[in-house]
Amino acid sequence: MTRPPGAGRFAPSPSADLHIGNLRTAVLAWLFARSTGRRFLMRVEDLDDRTHTDIADRQLADLAALGLTWDGPATRQTEHPDRYDVVVDTLRRRGLLFECYCTRKDIAQAPRAPHAPEGAYPGTCRDLTDAERHTRRRQTGRPPALRLRTDTGEFTVHDLLHGDYTGAVDDFVIRRGDGVPAYNLAVVVDDAASGVDQVVRADDLLASAPRQAHLARLLGHPAPTYAHVPLVLNAAGARLAKRDGAVTLAEIGVQRALHRIGESLGYTSLTVEGMLTEFEPQRLPRAPWVYRPG
Ligand code: GLU
Ligand code: ZN
Repeated sequence: MTRPPGAGRFAPSPSADLHIGNLRTAVLAWLFARSTGRRFLMRVEDLDDRTHTDIADRQLADLAALGLTWDGPATRQTEHPDRYDVVVDTLRRRGLLFECYCTRKDIAQAPRAPHAPEGAYPGTCRDLTDAERHTRRRQTGRPPALRLRTDTGEFTVHDLLHGDYTGAVDDFVIRRGDGVPAYNLAVVVDDAASGVDQVVRADDLLASAPRQAHLARLLGHPAPTYAHVPLVLNAAGARLAKRDGAVTLAEIGVQRALHRIGESLGYTSLTVEGMLTEFEPQRLPRAPWVYRPG
């Protein structure tokens, strides 16, 4: 029996043009997928940035200019809002959601259990009675967020570069108060819906993987293979940003960008197809790449 190939993906948020760090992550996601015979999918994460279609178009054009190829048309999350509603309803029917009226400030100021992870939801709205909920709704005057009722506390994922990684799983937000599906929900639902079984992204998202894998399990989806790749930093050691100079493809140029990315990975190839022949996941640099324009 032949197993249908799984898929990897790249999932840019269309909030700004991709910089060389984002492009390098995209190249790595493509290398991981193609070197394992997987399909490669492109997903624009526009639930939060729905007006920025021009930025999304430029991001896709930049990725294509590097030589990256993807299977089928790029998808946009806003194309299928029902997909998230269905899952929210399922979780709600299973009694796994509760309404939360807290502001960020409420959460920061609430007393928390000793050893509770930094920023973890303190459980304020978890067990409100109907009467208390009505009072809170009247007081705040805005619709509540929906949070997942979680009793695990933590969850361990396996990462190809980080090994076993255990991280906090609190009562995280599933749908925001403004009705937008939360990032953690959308990622899990979209990956499962499109057959993604390999998640390669920057390692600032490693801490989110346990929450996502826990939610995937609740929904009956197998956890994907994870590879969280090092971030790209500026000379001062901070996350690379626009103000650091020439960082976008338009500013750097395709040839130069491919050269810098390949060089940072220890490759001599100047095309992504060439890098594919040199790709060895176990030999990837584990330290952040410090990028100096020029
Ligand atoms: N859209 C997210 C970002 O651009 C990536 C989400 C993911 O890869 O899971 O940071
Ligand atoms: Zn709350």
